[in-house]
Parts: sequence; structure tokens; C-alpha cells
Amino acid sequence: MITLTETLKPKDLKSDVKPIWCPGCGDFGVLNALLKALTDLKLDPAHVAIASGIGCSGRFPAFVNAYGFHGVHGRVLPLATGIKLANPELTVFAVGGDGDAFSIGAGHLPHAARRNVDITYIVMDNEIYGLTKGQPSPTSPLGMEKKASPYGTYDAPLNPIAMVLSHGATFVARGFSSQPRDLTELIKRGVQHPGFAFIQAISPCVTFYDTYARFKETTTPIAEDHDPADRLAAMKLALETNVQYLGVFYEEERMSHHGGVGQVRDKAGADFSLEDLLKRFER
Ligand code: SF4
Ligand code: MG
Repeated sequence: MITLTETLKPKDLKSDVKPIWCPGCGDFGVLNALLKALTDLKLDPAHVAIASGIGCSGRFPAFVNAYGFHGVHGRVLPLATGIKLANPELTVFAVGGDGDAFSIGAGHLPHAARRNVDITYIVMDNEIYGLTKGQPSPTSPLGMEKKASPYGTYDAPLNPIAMVLSHGATFVARGFSSQPRDLTELIKRGVQHPGFAFIQAISPCVTFYDTYARFKETTTPIAEDHDPADRLAAMKLALETNVQYLGVFYEEERMSHHGGVGQVRDKAGADFSLEDLLKRFER
């Protein structure tokens, strides 16, 4: 993390581009939480990079005064991994929605988690495809009736927290856009975590699937006596369906992806020659 000595305010990190999200969209709460986390941690925006996928949340990097890359659908994790590998000094965020993360991009998630890429991945989960006007997504609940599913969805939703826990993510948390202070703290912990930090941010789509009332009722903080080093206990919380727990489910320290790449570089030594290596494969 490269920090500033001066203290910036969140408004200093807002770009000139005004968000074009619908008024009331949960993504505003996530954006405000991220801006506050950046300023609380005094991160130098010249050393912050935010990569995004496709969807309403994909517009995110344009609204922050830091480096940004709006990538193609589902490829935010390879993009963020490449940015971190090319310049490990950067604080790297990946942001996207539930469709981008758990449908087209789902093949990348297990590998970013097991490799422990040192990035913070914030998934704005609204349980629907918002940008394309309300089709069921991988996290839509059973029976959801919308224009594109007039008789109700019949595919079981996947469980993002259980999914990343089972793939070896080393920091796993859930926040809610309506509770930006708590979400800010989760993002700060995710950034400070030396490895892959996954944050599911419940972020309702007011236009196509307004779930504010449901989540206000069903969300509850993780109990203070929960041990975040206990993966099995974290999994039990994740599998709870009557309530949606908010907070840090799991945290462990393990060598990061760029740490491993650094080890290989050290083993290869300063006199490493690509030419010599390739010669080994000559007939
Ligand atoms: Fe937000 Fe939904 Fe509007 Fe997209 S369509 S900006 S997710 S409220
Ligand atoms: Mg979505």
C-alpha cells in the first residue's frame, strides 16, 4: 500500500463523471463506502487501480479518481490479476455484479481464490441482471417472477460465500449497501488483508428487483464470538438460509500469488537468461 501524508476527503476522489445509476441503486452505497475506505486508509490514488466487468456496476471505475479499466464481460479477475502482477505496489480492486462474477466469469473465481491473488474483489449482488433489464441471475431466488421469468425461476441459486470459502479464499466477507459504515470497514480490512479478499456487497436494484425491505429484515451481524479462523464455522454461517449474516466470515494468512511468483524469480536468480532456458527445449 502506498499512502499519502495529507488527508483527502471522499469527495476529492470523485471523478468528474457523474454516476448514471438509477436513484436509489445500491451501487451508490458501495461507491461511497469504497471512497471512504480509500481516504480512511490514506491510499494514494495514483497507486490505486480499479478493474471492472460488464453490468451496471461495471461503470464503477469511471466515477473514481484513480486508475480504472472497464474490461469485458466476466474477465475482471484475470485483468486485476495481471495488473497486480505487473505492479505489485498497486492496491488493486476488482468490482462487478452477480451475473459477471458468478455466471460468465465464474470459471475465474476459484482460481483467483486458490492462487490468493492480493486484490480486493467487491461483488455488487442484486440477484438480477440490471443492465439488461431484469433477467434472472445466478443468485436470483427460486420462484422469482419477472418479465423474463413470468412463471417463476426454477434454477436453484448459488451461494457466493460458500463457493469462495470452498475454493480457498483467504478473506471472505458480506456487507450491505444500506450500511455503508460497516461496508467501509469491511473494504478496509479487505485491502489490508495480504491476499484474495472477497466481499459480497448486497446492493439492491431498485428498478428491476427492489430487495431493500427483504434484506433489512433478513440481514444480521455475525456474532462477536465467531472465530474467523474457523473455516467450518464460516461455512455453517454461509449455509444459513433464514438469515443473511453480515461481517467477516473467514480470514487466514497464506502466501499470495505475487509472493509465489517472487519466490520463483528469486530461485531463478539474477543471472536468469530466457535464452538459456529455451535452449533446454532444443532438440
Ligand atoms: Fe442500479 Fe438496477 Fe438501475 Fe442498474 S438498473 S443502475 S442495478 S437500480
Ligand atoms: Mg446483478
